[in-house]
Amino acid sequence: MTPATEVINTILQNIPAEAEVTRIEYEGPKLALYTKKPEFLLLNSYIISDLVNMIKKRVVVRIDKSIRKTETEAKEIIMNILPKESEVTNIVFDDTLGEIILEVKKPKFLGSKNGASLIDLTCKTGWKVKIFRKPPIASSSLQNIFQAIITAVESREKFFKETGERIFRSRLSSDVEVSILTLGAFREVGRSAILIETKESKILLDCGINPGARNSWDAYPRFDWANIYLDDLDCVIISHAHLDHIGFLPVLYKYGYNGPIYCSEPTLPLMNLLHMDYVKVASMEGTKRLFDIRDIREVIRHSITLPYGLVTDVSPDVKLVLNNAGHILGSSMIHLHIGEGAHNIVYSGDFKFAKTKLLESAVRDYPRVETLIIESTYGAKEDIVPDRREVELSFVNSINETLLKGGKVLIPVPAVGRAQEIMLVIDEYMRRGKLVEAPVFVEGMISQFLMQNIT
Ligand SMILES: [Zn+2]
Repeated sequence: MTPATEVINTILQNIPAEAEVTRIEYEGPKLALYTKKPEFLLLNSYIISDLVNMIKKRVVVRIDKSIRKTETEAKEIIMNILPKESEVTNIVFDDTLGEIILEVKKPKFLGSKNGASLIDLTCKTGWKVKIFRKPPIASSSLQNIFQAIITAVESREKFFKETGERIFRSRLSSDVEVSILTLGAFREVGRSAILIETKESKILLDCGINPGARNSWDAYPRFDWANIYLDDLDCVIISHAHLDHIGFLPVLYKYGYNGPIYCSEPTLPLMNLLHMDYVKVASMEGTKRLFDIRDIREVIRHSITLPYGLVTDVSPDVKLVLNNAGHILGSSMIHLHIGEGAHNIVYSGDFKFAKTKLLESAVRDYPRVETLIIESTYGAKEDIVPDRREVELSFVNSINETLLKGGKVLIPVPAVGRAQEIMLVIDEYMRRGKLVEAPVFVEGMISQFLMQNIT
């Protein structure tokens, strides 16, 4: 199935012939326009913005394969153009999307002001060039992501095409009915999973485990209640990378799910880190694994990352927007628009209302919400957030007291999110001379997370 004729006609009528558009195809939730003259559309970006407003769909400019330079040629061009100071550390070719991921140590030496503009690199190589700053500490999860995408060119091409065809299939009914089925996490902490069903779509929000459960009935989402086949799912949308929201995700691929996952950009590497760590710990302990590395790889290959605030079609009658939830890096509140303004659902995931050193507060402005699903882990009457300054002072005082008595301080923290905030507090007080100077050691996995937050 190709995009609907009227959409193609609108595009062709509004794109000047100079753009040399050769093909229009679905690429997941976007329409990809393949061109032989990328410079024309990239320099006249208003053409695409106008088009998006007209057809109300996301559009991406792709470069026709016939003008792409070979990998060796492209590498040579890049190395000749880029200023040496930028220090290129890795060049990854994503053949599916025709993109080059350029990992550099110092991205400040790039950009239009510095002579080596991305448009220039793109036009000279025939590949769309994306810049990526090399993390200060080597990141195994980024390498895993690069490796997973470059080794699955054909299957990812097929995946993007089929996902788009499914999203833009014609609607069977204009009636709007919405049902919400909870498969875990209500009146308990852990295994978040919510199934949203309309007459057209089946969408899963989060897919976690309950790490503290004693038996499997209490540990995993109750898919047996849902009465669906995994193939029926249009997509899975992930709020954030904590195991109680993502721990069961690779199992879906193990049992044959083939559809997309939508999440924010930072969530993907964080998720990978947690999934890989789960497999590592299970192997070390010799316990039975829920999933394996090949299933984690499928999670990467089926993930479509989205920036905050962007409206994306995820099925014929559902549009998605992710908004900052302020809980951990990349955490999102999931906003679903169902039908043509018929019903709006906001699922908060875990969220934080106050601004902290590391993260903004959760987005709270929604023009219309008919159904709000909100976490309430610390939502009881007595759970009032104490004054931040008082908490910091009592924390710092107890560290000082211990160190002055010649003691050592161990701070147990849940790895993702909290550790970074505590590091910033320690750093600030030590710099201001309010905390006794002492070496600070960070446990292995947390240092990986710190690195992810820095990038
Ligand atoms: Zn969380």
